[in-house]
Order: sequence, then C-alpha cells, then structure tokens
Amino acid sequence: MSQSPHMSLANAIVAGVNSDKNNDNDNDNDNDVKNINERLRAPIGKIVCVGRNYAAHARELGNEVPTAPMLFMKPTSSVVSMHHGVVLPNPEQFGETHYEAELCIQLTEDLSAATIEQAQQAIGGVTLGLDLTLRDLQTTLKDKGHPWERAKCFDGACVLGEWLEPQVFGDFKNVQYQLYINNELKQDGDSALMLFPVYELLVNISHAFSLQAGDVIMTGTPSGVGILQAGDALTFKLSDHEWQVQVR
Ligand code: ZN
Repeated sequence: MSQSPHMSLANAIVAGVNSDKNNDNDNDNDNDVKNINERLRAPIGKIVCVGRNYAAHARELGNEVPTAPMLFMKPTSSVVSMHHGVVLPNPEQFGETHYEAELCIQLTEDLSAATIEQAQQAIGGVTLGLDLTLRDLQTTLKDKGHPWERAKCFDGACVLGEWLEPQVFGDFKNVQYQLYINNELKQDGDSALMLFPVYELLVNISHAFSLQAGDVIMTGTPSGVGILQAGDALTFKLSDHEWQVQVR
C-alpha cells in the first residue's frame, strides 16, 4: 500500500514545496507550508468536485443554476502537482481542454453525516487547483446523457498547489483567488459568490457519502473558463501565495 501512486504523488507535492524553499524569502510562511504538508502526509484520497457552484459560471455554459450541489469525482490517478506543470491532451485527438481554477480543500478527518462544526474541524489544508476538462468531449457526453469521466478523469486532469494552513482563510466566506493567463486576468474567484459555501458543501456531501481523511474537495469554478493552449503561462494567486505554471 505504501507504494501506491497517490502516496508517491502526495510526496511529490511535498517535495515540490521543499524545492521552492530557496525562492521564498518569507521564512515564517515557509514553515507554515512545511508544517501543513507534514500534517497532511496521508495520501490524497478521492477528489470530489462541485459543478456549477457559481451562478455566473453555470450561465456561461448555458446550464441551470442548481438547487443542490452537483457532484462528480476525479480519481487519485488524475492528480499532478502544479510544480510539474500542465501537459495538454493532444487537441487533434481530444479537442479543446478548458481550465477551471478552483479553491480546493483537503480533509484531515473523516466526515459522515457531519455537522457544520465537524466540517470546520476536518479541514486540514487549502490550495488552488485546476479542474481540467475536455470540453468538446464533455459536451458530446452530456448530449448523450452519458457520465463525464472521459472528460474529467484523465491523467493530469487535477492540478493541485501545495497545501496552506486553513486558519488564514477564516470561515471561507470571503476568500479571493485569481487565475491569470499570459498576464491577463481570466478568472476572479470570490467564495462569497459560492451558491454552496465551503462548510455547507462538506456537510451536504457527507450526507450523500462518507468523506475520509485525505479526500480533496474542488469547490467549483467561477466564470471565465476557456481554452488552454500549449505555451500558456498560468499564474494562480491565493492570499499571499502565487504559483506559476507552464502549459506544455
Ligand atoms: Zn470544475
């Protein structure tokens, strides 16, 4: 079990953080990052994604605004660290790949039919992630009424930054984050605009199925999704953290 791919991936993310150490001149902050990753050495579990958690994004894709969280999952095999960059699926074979920048939560405790307080205590780490989506394929699958896995679960489809301390983000109702592509602001996220805020999401999901320590929640993308191209330079900003990611 200790040689499972997601374990090596979790370690890769930790290693990515450590390799960044020399570039970070804020030592206190650097220690926070190191500590949180030590606490999160549990392997990454399932990745639960929330579709249409921002009304503006639901509308931009011509979807109805949901009345309950719309959930789907990605497998652990889809996860890569931001430090490894994004490898685009061949557009000739797979069509357009879209970026979706999302606030991501990792749990350090199990949650089953949880209360708000339990949800609050279970959050161990926070980061930004990319929910990569083969949009042409997804549209075809949606039109047929088929599941989306082929469009959402490919290797590299879940790109995660390193975990930050959750305390910085308070009750998660006022978290701003941005995605820039080639220095142009593409997605301007604000958790205040979530249809289902973070704690309520965790409670709702935990009543549908159990969440376990290590599981990751991708909380949904704000409006501004679009096509990724090879050569794009991505900049993610969350609190005082910034990630640079190259698309190949
Ligand atoms: Zn998404």
